[in-house]
Amino acid sequence: MQDNDRSLQWNPSQAIETLHPRRVVEAVFLDRDGTLNVERTDYVKSIDELALLPGVLDALARLAALNLPLILITNQSAIGRGIVSTHQVERIHEHLRSMVHAAQGRIDAVYLCPHPPDAGCTCRKPKPGLLLAAANDWRLDLARCAFIGDSMADLGAARAVGCQPILVRTGRQAQQLDELIHRDSDVVLVDDLSAAVDWLERWMKANSGERALAAQAHSSSQAAH
Ligand SMILES: [Zn+2]
Repeated sequence: MQDNDRSLQWNPSQAIETLHPRRVVEAVFLDRDGTLNVERTDYVKSIDELALLPGVLDALARLAALNLPLILITNQSAIGRGIVSTHQVERIHEHLRSMVHAAQGRIDAVYLCPHPPDAGCTCRKPKPGLLLAAANDWRLDLARCAFIGDSMADLGAARAVGCQPILVRTGRQAQQLDELIHRDSDVVLVDDLSAAVDWLERWMKANSGERALAAQAHSSSQAAH
């Protein structure tokens, strides 16, 4: 009888999860071209060609303050196309990270797909290979991660693994994304990285409230027994 009572016991944390499917964020994935820097049709081939979008350094500093892993997830097919070397891309990323660091931001890791589109690899977005690799290395629950990107490929990769996509209008697919939100009300679409961080901060605040509530309800139900 007592065992039955226990099995029927209200589990507040489970119930809150069910009632509020939004979850606490474990990590934030970031796209590069069109999200952090100006996308070039002829690819970013050198440090000189890396032009950060307005407000990006401030936005990354605010993201860093959230104390989550911040992981760059980027397609760099220019490597596979022979337009730029892996070494050059690494130099560009070192430069990017040092600029971000100097402005109190962080990029904790970079995962890139070097393959051309016709290679049929599993890592080129919208395939989720890079997200799966990062989740494995960082032991992340992808359903508790957010992905800030500017393209349908970013949306596809995020959706494939259950990440929360947050899309920005600073890339080349802004018009396509604007059309998409009329058909798909679940898409979060904001102007730029700064607005994406605003959205994420609100989302986390809402969730931390739920988590605190769950913990409180749980401890009071424990105290009652
Ligand atoms: Zn690939």
